[in-house]
Amino acid sequence: MRNLCLGILFTVFTLSATAQTPTPAIPNLAQLNQMASRFAPTELRVDTSVLSAGDRAALAKLIEAARVIDDIQLAQKWDGNLALRIKLAREQSPLGKARFHYFWINKGPWSILDENGPFIPGVPARPLGANFYPARLSKEVLEKWMANLKPDERTEAQGFFTVIGRDKTEGASSTLKIVPYSQEYGSELKKAADLLRAAARLTENVSLKKFLSLRADAFGSNDYFDSDVAWMDLDSPLDVTIGPYETYDDELFGYKAAFEAYINVRDDKESKKLEFFGQHLQSIENNLPISAEYRNPRIGASSPITVVNEVFGAGDGNQGVQTAAYNLPNDERVIQQKGSKRVMLKNVQHAKFEQILVPISKTVLTPAAQSDLDFEFFFTHILAHELTHGLGPHLITVNGRETNPRQELKELYSAVEEAKADVTGLFALQYMMDNHLLRESLGEGEAAERKLYTTYLASSFRTLRFGVKDAHARGMAMQFNFLRDRGAFVLQPEGTFAVDFTKIKRAIRDLDHELLMLEATGDYAKTKETLARLSVIRPEVQSALDKLKSLPTDIETIFVTADSVAPRVKRAAIKTLKVSK
Ligand code: ZN
Repeated sequence: MRNLCLGILFTVFTLSATAQTPTPAIPNLAQLNQMASRFAPTELRVDTSVLSAGDRAALAKLIEAARVIDDIQLAQKWDGNLALRIKLAREQSPLGKARFHYFWINKGPWSILDENGPFIPGVPARPLGANFYPARLSKEVLEKWMANLKPDERTEAQGFFTVIGRDKTEGASSTLKIVPYSQEYGSELKKAADLLRAAARLTENVSLKKFLSLRADAFGSNDYFDSDVAWMDLDSPLDVTIGPYETYDDELFGYKAAFEAYINVRDDKESKKLEFFGQHLQSIENNLPISAEYRNPRIGASSPITVVNEVFGAGDGNQGVQTAAYNLPNDERVIQQKGSKRVMLKNVQHAKFEQILVPISKTVLTPAAQSDLDFEFFFTHILAHELTHGLGPHLITVNGRETNPRQELKELYSAVEEAKADVTGLFALQYMMDNHLLRESLGEGEAAERKLYTTYLASSFRTLRFGVKDAHARGMAMQFNFLRDRGAFVLQPEGTFAVDFTKIKRAIRDLDHELLMLEATGDYAKTKETLARLSVIRPEVQSALDKLKSLPTDIETIFVTADSVAPRVKRAAIKTLKVSK
């Protein structure tokens, strides 16, 4: 899944934000340009000199394979998508060019930020089941058909890697049939598999060779299990995720996986930092601001995190809002055996920081505070957030009953847990600074603290920008208002905000205590009261947010390194992929 934590909060609330400004049925040129301007064009460059010669050669093959994934995912979204792309690519008028540009951002003719409203005349409403089910077939009919299948057939029909097509064979027992991806997208998957095998021959890394070979096999066999396991074991400077993964595009059932690819170079400096943090997690737990009885004397192993820089993203991994972190695989069978892995795209986070957080800070911070905005602290706090999800109460006792915070706090849990990770992350970094553990990687003392808390203050506006409908934003509003009430965030006469450094550390500690105790006691009533009181947008925040409306929502990636490593060659564009419908 896409990581919903801090990492991508730039953008997950955009639907509610844009719902307030309904777009006209089909936008004209000016409107279309305005819509596209919400994505700030950003060049992504990655230093590939850290790779071996073999890996650099493999990288070119992998980028080519990812471009094939783009074609497959276009076909998955809508039957008419590939043909429409060809038509739009030929357009020469300014409007035609603007349509092609925005089509490519959205990977289709529907505007993702505008509740999937169409922006090209003559296209149908976005099909809820994308191109995974026969067009115009109702959910009820499909459900009924699935219910009557034999159990193993039903599993296939509801599986990640099949589409449902119309069976036109003479005398077929049903009008519908199950078609595996390996058949539906056979010709393109063969191309991609050949490129993965070529890359496997070029790299010297054993774990990468293994993953690429098994994934190439999976494209042909439609069995992804072994290659998912190999992906979990991947330990390579050239880092690859390629295949069918996310099910968000299947809004009918959420069964079908869209193809995507992320071709990355591992960031070894950040990976070392993570490893170092990992060594200190138990000692942070032992010092959490709650009484010892609530602390965990032996925290469990946390799921692995890899920090990478993205060279190229394709398919579902490069449409609309840019993914800044993802957690895969989604297949429960693999998760049970191997767990899951989180991949964080550092350069994408950096691009969003520059394009969105820096402009936000110019509006919400005092001029003096703006120079303390710092990407290293921003990113390290995200890492700390991810790691500290694993700290604090996880198994609790309520009235003699063994349970857990999620069970007790129910629908309120996510907001509390996200706030807990934010605040415990800050607590952890402060603890490490106080114990001289960050002297080399981040620095310590007054200057470092100024950067940490100022960056945190600015980034809270990035989260609050789209309202408090989402659990993450509710958690953020709770933090913000608590710190305001404690005088740790101060409102300036001109409407900007600043940190009071004499108060922030104590306030963070107290807030962490409150959040951890809500989880430790599983107190639903108190949590409900706290959220009702604090998870609101107060007028002072709203007037700051009003000034942010014209800032970009997200970035549009321009893959400079990818285009130089593997220059785009003109090839015959395919018009259609489907065989089953
Ligand atoms: Zn989180």
